[in-house]
Amino acid sequence: MEIVTYPHPTLRQQCEEITNIDDEIVQMADAMTEALFREEGLGLAAPQVGKPLRLIIVNVEEEFHVLLNPEIVEKGDRTELKEEGCLSIPGPHEEVSRALNVVVRGIDLKGNEVKLEREGTPARVLQHEIDHLEGTLFIDHLSETARSMALKEYRKEKAKH
Ligand SMILES: [Zn+2]
Repeated sequence: MEIVTYPHPTLRQQCEEITNIDDEIVQMADAMTEALFREEGLGLAAPQVGKPLRLIIVNVEEEFHVLLNPEIVEKGDRTELKEEGCLSIPGPHEEVSRALNVVVRGIDLKGNEVKLEREGTPARVLQHEIDHLEGTLFIDHLSETARSMALKEYRKEKAKH
């Protein structure tokens, strides 16, 4: 399964809720997991493989979750500025301000409710992946200058391949 890169149109789509966990969804999650492990990423969202559906995978600090219809139900007031990158915008890493703590709710592939209270990097990854479901990319959180520098670096990187 290929990971699509900026400016692929799916990356800007508002993703659809998953109402039925059928074989297609399970297979998609499997293929996404494979792609994520192959790329050694921390997270992947369905729009990054060209599917505008509300499904994310996180693989961070020995945690692994497939989350369907994830939602941030609580966000702490404290923020943290840290470098972030994205498998759909390979190359640049820029500092992005995110909430330090989040509570996320979703369902797993068996349809069970999952609630995750996370801090630091796992919280950051969850916010980054859930952003993808709204068509938001990490570069959207940057200043105009930082964004154009990041995109310049990305295009340079892309031209090499
Ligand atoms: Zn991303």
